[in-house]
Amino acid sequence: MPSAPSPAPDPSLPLPEPLARAWADLVATARRTVADGLVVGTSGNVSVRVGDLVLVTPSGVPYDRLTAADLLAVTLDGRRAHGTLAPTSELPFHLDVYRTTSARAVVHTHAVHATAVSTLVDELPLIHYMAAALGGPVRVAPYAPYGTEELAAHTRAALEGRSACLLRNHGTLAHGDTLDQAYDRTAQLEWMCRVWLTASSVPGRTPTLLTEAQLADVATRLRTYGQPAAPPDGAEAPANLPDA
Ligand code: 13P
Ligand code: ZN
Repeated sequence: MPSAPSPAPDPSLPLPEPLARAWADLVATARRTVADGLVVGTSGNVSVRVGDLVLVTPSGVPYDRLTAADLLAVTLDGRRAHGTLAPTSELPFHLDVYRTTSARAVVHTHAVHATAVSTLVDELPLIHYMAAALGGPVRVAPYAPYGTEELAAHTRAALEGRSACLLRNHGTLAHGDTLDQAYDRTAQLEWMCRVWLTASSVPGRTPTLLTEAQLADVATRLRTYGQPAAPPDGAEAPANLPDA
């Protein structure tokens, strides 16, 4: 027998702490996209997955007006779990990312340079090695109207093996293990688009590009970029420099 749908949560009950914390992080990330000039007004949207729920920004509400009481969560199949506001119109592509990848956060923006590049090429030329941090050359998803399943399908194809893509005549989408990672990938993508536009607009000159082999080499190097993981309690710190 099919199980009965679970009853709607009682809005007078306090929310579980992890949801409240994730909502505060989501609102902070959404505000950051505006503060850093990656979106204007209520453009763009942000989501974060907590267990089997997805917290999403509401549609068309300025991020500086959002409070703890506005927490909005949906199930992976798009049913309302918490909150009363209408969810982002881009719910189809947010949910699609969670259903088809292990991502825990998604950031969508209308960043200027990324959006400009989305109108010029099918793939961001390999202008910088940081493309390797996004899984390889960044593809442009063909245009489809915002909020449609068609756009979600184009986005899924463009994201294959990547953590970010451009949306033609629209903007960016990046996902990650955390909101900070999805945000940082968005900022890296916008920065790379800016570098390519800058270099390719010098009259009479054509920028050099990296090869796929050079990018693959960087992908290997990036696996050990930054600080080594903290050793478990009692274990010796890894030596990445010879002792004096
Ligand atoms: P929402 O306000 O519905 O999230 O829409 C903004 C947007 O960027 C649509 O692509
Ligand atoms: Zn958009």
